[in-house]
Amino acid sequence: MALGDQFALFVSSVVDYAIFMLDPAGNVVTWNEGAQRIKGYKADEIIGRHFSLFYPVEDARNRKPDWELEVARREGHYAEEGWRIRKDGTRFWASVVITAVRDETGRLRAFGKVTRDLTERRKQDARRHAEREAEAQRLRDHAASMAELERAKTEFLNLASHELRGPLTVIRGYNSMLEDGSIPPDQVPAVARLLEAKLAQMDLLIEQMLETARLEHNRLELSREKFDLRWAVQEQLDIFRPLSQGHHFVIKGAHEPLLVEGDRTRIATIVANLMDNALKYSPGGGEVCITTGRLGGDVFVGVRDEGIGIAPEHKPILFTRFGRLPTEENVSIAGTGLGLFLCKEIAVRHGGNITVKSSLGAGSEFTLTLPSAR
Ligand code: ADP
Repeated sequence: MALGDQFALFVSSVVDYAIFMLDPAGNVVTWNEGAQRIKGYKADEIIGRHFSLFYPVEDARNRKPDWELEVARREGHYAEEGWRIRKDGTRFWASVVITAVRDETGRLRAFGKVTRDLTERRKQDARRHAEREAEAQRLRDHAASMAELERAKTEFLNLASHELRGPLTVIRGYNSMLEDGSIPPDQVPAVARLLEAKLAQMDLLIEQMLETARLEHNRLELSREKFDLRWAVQEQLDIFRPLSQGHHFVIKGAHEPLLVEGDRTRIATIVANLMDNALKYSPGGGEVCITTGRLGGDVFVGVRDEGIGIAPEHKPILFTRFGRLPTEENVSIAGTGLGLFLCKEIAVRHGGNITVKSSLGAGSEFTLTLPSAR
């Protein structure tokens, strides 16, 4: 077999590439195995027909096929990647090279066309691109959340140091008065109680920070003991009473034991928070009424004040983390917005809840309910 025939045989049996010739007008004159496989036409169906058949209608209408031949004629070849149409009408992504074939006198005899189906590769590229994009997005999200964490941490540290400095200043002031003897001896016990209350406020704050961190790391473990809620309330009352400025406490205590089973220290902290808030958010003084009692299968502690109250639209913020209400009063009243968030979390973990009744300017009542122990 002559080399030329061998070569023709080789071309006709290549399956991965459509290799065929067009006459100078663009009609198909040869067809190979690969062309049949990729485009779906058999040789006798396509030979003699114009190659614009392989293009999307829009391209054919815009005479893109003719333009490509024109480029190949002028420059020797034309190459591109683009959509082409199979016999069954489906699209495929093709890599196309059109080469002008000239005889020794330079006369254009034909065009050789090699087409490869890159649909799969394009899909893979798209998949890889999407994966890379998703990975990049994950990294961007991670960086953003780290930045947010960093920002929250800084803000929190600023807030915490500011909050601790308040009671520290008071304690330092009284201490220097104790040192230079400017507090009369009969008032020392009262000052000691006030100092104790300020220290309790600082304890509360530090405890809030630690508890928030524990919650965040899922490391908040509750202890379980049975105790009478009334005594836990009484203890907190003794601590917070000296902080009252123009407040008077009214106690409506239950006359029977209110046994609960749970983390005594943490439940006491909830009561401390509610009392601390009742005092803080009634800067004009007034009554602070503490009620303990039983309601169905639950026991409860209610802390009612006659303070600034809470607008209905602000209620959803109350129990959220760092949820300080955007009120004018809060500019001058110290707080982190962590107290109620933690109180609620801990109450719920005991199977209880904290609810609030309040109206703006008319005071608030927060109620902690817990399941009664058997
Ligand atoms: P904070 O450290 O700011 O006191 P809390 O979580 O204890 O944080 O309370 C959240 C917000 O709810 C407070 O900033 C305050 O605006 C509001 N709030 C809490 N208790 C009372 C109350 N008894 N009366 C009015 N507003 C209150």
